[in-house]
Amino acid sequence: MTDRIGILGGTFDPIHYGHLAIAEEVRVALALDRVLFVPAAYQPLKAHRPGADAHHRLAMARLACATNTFFSVSDVEIARPGPSYTVTTLQAFHDAEPGELFFILGADALNDLLRWREAARIPELTSIVAVQRPGITLNMKPLFAALPALRERLTMIDGPRLDISSSELRQRAADKRPLRYLMPDSVVEYIAEHGLYQSHS
Ligand code: ATP
Ligand code: MG
Repeated sequence: MTDRIGILGGTFDPIHYGHLAIAEEVRVALALDRVLFVPAAYQPLKAHRPGADAHHRLAMARLACATNTFFSVSDVEIARPGPSYTVTTLQAFHDAEPGELFFILGADALNDLLRWREAARIPELTSIVAVQRPGITLNMKPLFAALPALRERLTMIDGPRLDISSSELRQRAADKRPLRYLMPDSVVEYIAEHGLYQSHS
């Protein structure tokens, strides 16, 4: 049997319990052998540059994943020059990994899928697992109309629905409000040690 490999891409700026909880939920629900977290160098669709440098976001993701033996962090997107296109990353994993791929994303990201580069290629390369997110209503009609292949490739997971976002955490850090219990202590400490997110952009 080949490995069943989950892939969770994101800016992880910073990583938080919302990310970790959906990865664990999907891992258990779909009996994945492992989940790879893939921090983006920068995401072409985000209006702002990340609040923390790539090496900090990578370090925080590694700290957060260290306590789950099924989780690991890949630096492929950060190591690659230029913007991070998911299709490039999935093609690379598809070619390099002997396993079956499951691309995990939140409902907000799924709603955005048609704007991604070569969106039609994505369901050809991987199964897609979409997880509900508080405050987001999924709009499947345009997605299925544009990408009919998605129908057989999509699994919906109700998820733990934690109302946590990196945007809110960056604002909290800038306002000196607590981050604890929203992300692992190791990440809270890393942010304090390196003085990250002190001014909100
Ligand atoms: P930002 O506020 O900066 O956009 P974020 O919290 O959305 O940060 P990202 O790094 O943009 O985090 O998200 C990476 C992936 O994780 C996306 O697919 C996103 O939908 C998903 N995700 C993030 N937080 C949650 C959450 N609380 N519940 C469900 N999915 C989530
Ligand atoms: Mg986001």
